[in-house]
Amino acid sequence: MNPTNLWPIPPTTLIPRELTEKSATLKKRLSDIAARYVDVRFATSLAAEDMVITDAISKSKTKIALFTLATGRLHQETVDMTKATENHYGVVIAKAYPEEVDVQGFVDQYGMNGFYDGVEAKKACCGARKIKPLNAALLGADAWLTGQRREQSTTRVELNFEEHDDARGIAKFNPLFDWTEADVWAYIKQENVPIHPLHLKGYPSIGCEPCTRQVKKGEDIRAGRWWWLQSDSKECGLHINK
Ligand code: SF4
Repeated sequence: MNPTNLWPIPPTTLIPRELTEKSATLKKRLSDIAARYVDVRFATSLAAEDMVITDAISKSKTKIALFTLATGRLHQETVDMTKATENHYGVVIAKAYPEEVDVQGFVDQYGMNGFYDGVEAKKACCGARKIKPLNAALLGADAWLTGQRREQSTTRVELNFEEHDDARGIAKFNPLFDWTEADVWAYIKQENVPIHPLHLKGYPSIGCEPCTRQVKKGEDIRAGRWWWLQSDSKECGLHINK
């Protein structure tokens, strides 16, 4: 794809005072969560929103543990970004790996890339490589955080700051629920947050390599995720609360 036709990192539109307020509100949200719950964990994909939260956790010295879903199908850039983030912030990002037996079970039934065949196979792959490891990573936690925002997709328009994750019986928070894409990138610029290199190559959203592709200028920012499926199927199941 011609690079000039690709999604570009949006220009900064926030004035500094608005950004300072947003940033302070984010840090307050994080410290309030940490004050209410003993064991809070943050699932990072290393994409822009999650780097904003990582930066805010680090700079506000809030006691929130980080982990990532090491699905085995990530871009090498994501693996490298995990290490770079650990080094930059002096943190450890725990890796939640899938069970070999679950991956093999999926491969035996559907084939390694069987998720391209439809929703059911995609759900089975995400179940083995993401949902089960997520459940394991959240065992013992009181609350967890995500980088989801309302304007990201049609499936997220009713997102709230605080939810109850009935599936896991713990609290769940979306501290950027009311942020725009421009807010995210303004924060990144202002705070010199390291960014995932694929954002510079037309990827606004980053997931597993075979299920993520570049997005054209003007396209929905999640258009590159599971592009062969309908937009109401474009979630991996991590955020189904019931
Ligand atoms: S995003 Fe794709 S490769 Fe990753 S777990 Fe889901 S279906 Fe499998």
